[in-house]
Amino acid sequence: MPNDRLSRAGRRPIRVSFEFFPPKTPEMEETLWRSIERLAPLGPTFMSVTYGAGGSTRERTHQTVERMVKETTVPPAAHLTCVSATKDEVDAVVDGYREVGVRHIVALRGDPAGGVGSKFEAHPGGYQSTADLVAGIRRRAPEIELSVSAYPEKHPESPSIDADFDVLKAKVDAGANRAITQFFFDNAHYLRYVDEARKRGVHVPIVPGIVAVSNFKQTANFAARTGASIPDWLAARFEGLDNDPQTRQMIAAAVAAEQVLDLVDHGVKDFHFYTMNKADLVYAVCHLLGLRPTAGAGAKAAAA
Ligand code: FAD
Repeated sequence: MPNDRLSRAGRRPIRVSFEFFPPKTPEMEETLWRSIERLAPLGPTFMSVTYGAGGSTRERTHQTVERMVKETTVPPAAHLTCVSATKDEVDAVVDGYREVGVRHIVALRGDPAGGVGSKFEAHPGGYQSTADLVAGIRRRAPEIELSVSAYPEKHPESPSIDADFDVLKAKVDAGANRAITQFFFDNAHYLRYVDEARKRGVHVPIVPGIVAVSNFKQTANFAARTGASIPDWLAARFEGLDNDPQTRQMIAAAVAAEQVLDLVDHGVKDFHFYTMNKADLVYAVCHLLGLRPTAGAGAKAAAA
């Protein structure tokens, strides 16, 4: 008997976007491009490329989005952080993105130079906050689409969820078009967060960030640093599978699909996947959502 939730999902207009990180080695570059070639034909709204802490991947992020512009039909989104950089340095990165055809920037403050947990000190000649950065990009590049972060379970540095909403509102008032959330596993956190944001006058899309957990231990460590909670039921699903990566993969696809389908049931239509540069799990979840590759889509035809 067909699963009604799955077939309903297939009939709804779901939109997805995919996040990648810039590769460090030629082997990683090959993995990244294999993933892009597999996921781009699904017709994502955009594919984003992260920016390493303190600008450490500045060149690699630029090269990756530039190649996306040249080789794919999917609009790229380039991440950018303002920590440890002057305004001129940040503006030069914005100009560089625009010159190669990037029309969407994910604008972030970035983690403090001392790493997660240390205190953020704005660069004396730099943007003082993410809202300041958003306003700066908006002034310099009015045509640019701007996405920012959102934290349904509170940012670890934030004194309160109220302070988080104030920051989100300031970023939107400065010109952000969309917020993308930190990953979460309990949908109630996201749904409550969106309700509250609307009450506080934030009306841009707040797109849930989805991560498919294939390595539970690694994700739990990462979640502890980002402030995302790990529900007991999630830990129980991966219990006893530390040495069984194959079964973990299958559980991971099932858990992520279940999370996304529940959000679809709550009317959510846009999903941002943290791909970790690995296509298979994300591809499986998208397939369950009813997305199918279109022949010839995603890649630009090679020049004659
Ligand atoms: P903001 O939105 O400015 O702030 C986040 C919260 O921190 C605020 O709500 C506020 O309550 C609190 N806060 C901010 N400043 C202060 C302060 N001075 N004192 C006290 N509290 C404060 N990092 C990267 O390095 N590269 C990336 O490419 C990248 N991409 C990301 C994409 C997404 C979708 C998300 C959700 C996060 C990403 N990050 C990335 C992580 C992000 O840089 C860190 O979470 C960073 O610590 C905060 O940056 P932000 O822009 O989210 O900060």
